[in-house]
Amino acid sequence: MTVSKVKLFIVGCLVLLSMSVCFASDEALTQVSTIDALMAGAYDGVSTLGEMRKNGDFGIGTLDTLDGELILLDGVFYQVTADGAAVKPDISSKTPFAAVTFFTADKALKLKEGSNFLEFTESTERWFPSHNIFYAVKLKGSFRSVKTRSVPSQKKPYRPLAEIVKTQPVFELTNVAGTMVGFWCPPFVKGINVPGYHLHFITSDGKAGGHVLDFSTADVTAEFDDTREFFLILPDDNDFDKADLGRDRTTELKAVEK
Ligand SMILES: [Zn+2]
Repeated sequence: MTVSKVKLFIVGCLVLLSMSVCFASDEALTQVSTIDALMAGAYDGVSTLGEMRKNGDFGIGTLDTLDGELILLDGVFYQVTADGAAVKPDISSKTPFAAVTFFTADKALKLKEGSNFLEFTESTERWFPSHNIFYAVKLKGSFRSVKTRSVPSQKKPYRPLAEIVKTQPVFELTNVAGTMVGFWCPPFVKGINVPGYHLHFITSDGKAGGHVLDFSTADVTAEFDDTREFFLILPDDNDFDKADLGRDRTTELKAVEK
């Protein structure tokens, strides 16, 4: 190589290196707002579903005014409203809190028939190669039962999420085919996202679902996408700016998630 070719090679390597370090890849998890801001009542939508779609084809969240549970599966958004029915929201709808990625399975696991959420959690957490990274998680197949909840649209002044879920509508789906979409997040995301599993369900006909409280598997395969990049978008929003995000909301989060 001549000196100029060597220079070109080094510059090329530096460009490649900086690209891989600086830019979101398909392996990135992109999130808008924080779980504690949502719990504090920052329910005004800040990013459109169309904007979120640019960062993923798979994910979960909620909608403007806390209007139901959001699911993004294979590039299609579903909104499970407070009556448990799923609709396809307009791409211009906004979300106050959502996390998305492009899903490509790194590992797959056939689940034992009759596994519930706790057994699934314990067995997979034992099996994870690391507890310090994110996993996008997809559970697909037939379930003996799925217990879900949704949340109703709110009016200002917004009440904290822990207040709203005290009267959350709960749904029991039995002998149902569908997909659970969500993430396992490492413990250190406390305050930003939900440590451990957070899953939403959509039936295979796309007509029902919600935030997963529990399940029992029939014939289900779980897929995991290791994710080591995390992009956080903080809302340019008055409720977010004024939210008290200094205190520990761990107990509140447990009440909200279960
Ligand atoms: Zn949820």
